[in-house]
Amino acid sequence: MEKDDFLQLCRNNATAGNHGLSAAILPAVRQYLLNRPGGKLPVIWLETSDSGDNNIAFMNTTYPYLHQVFTDMIDLLYSNTFMAAQGSDALLLLESAAEGRYGPFTLIVEGAVPLKDGGIYNVIARTGSGPITALEAVKRLGAAAQYVVAAGTCASFGGASAAAPNMTGSVGVSQVLKRQVINVSGCPVNPDWLVGTLAHLLMYGIPELDDLNRPKLFYGFTVHRHCQRRSYFDNKDFAEKLGDIECMFSLGCSGPRTGADCPYRQWINHVSWPVKANTPCIGCTNRDFPDGSAPFFTPLPQKGKTGSAGQPPAGKGEKP
Ligand code: SF4
Repeated sequence: MEKDDFLQLCRNNATAGNHGLSAAILPAVRQYLLNRPGGKLPVIWLETSDSGDNNIAFMNTTYPYLHQVFTDMIDLLYSNTFMAAQGSDALLLLESAAEGRYGPFTLIVEGAVPLKDGGIYNVIARTGSGPITALEAVKRLGAAAQYVVAAGTCASFGGASAAAPNMTGSVGVSQVLKRQVINVSGCPVNPDWLVGTLAHLLMYGIPELDDLNRPKLFYGFTVHRHCQRRSYFDNKDFAEKLGDIECMFSLGCSGPRTGADCPYRQWINHVSWPVKANTPCIGCTNRDFPDGSAPFFTPLPQKGKTGSAGQPPAGKGEKP
């Protein structure tokens, strides 16, 4: 499959309300691998400081489903959620990858990296010679990896783990590594965004990225641009309370400043997304999430300003 066809498939199938990434992508990956036996994308998945939401979201991938991703797309060498190996056997896998015994691999980091006090607030393993911090592991594996992917907003920019007062000094992966990190942000990440990025890495290499190093394919337009309530916004017809059918800019919607294709890709087997479920977009893919989106139900000009909560929302017919 040509790269342009792949990009079109990813976009069109979501736009048309079909099956997200598309059932057609897996045959393309299989075709690609036909001449490359054993050529799946080797992946090390390191979980650091997050809520675990991103691997749960990943488990919800559909078209392709999780078992298809594992059997046909990626070779998951290490993941403390999915692997069977435990203790020293698991650690040996990481050591072997860092020493290059598996060849080029992709490092997925899920979670922020605490820097304070030598990174002691996130320990991925305890050994006879002391704890291995997430900071050490990300540095070591990040230096050895062919690609580094930050899955979710904590890994991309610090996210909720770095929210004020950020007592652990957490940061995104790109602030720890002196190399390119592909940010696939979201709280959690939409499984299509992550699986689509992995498919692109496998078949074509690094996708075109935006100024936050996110694949333009998924983050290239604002939520606002394709929102089903956009006509209400354009007519200055704003909701007064949750449950109203009008535009929720008045209730704190961050759609106008948030890059993501949620309105047409949607979530949970591609059936819904926040605005469709009558709640404003909270801007979870943004670099300044969550502090820059808070207070959540306050209109945009007041967001991120301490002490500004309580401003009255714009009413129907008023310009926000
Ligand atoms: S609900 Fe949000 S994303 Fe939708 S049109 Fe209104 S401001 Fe834009």
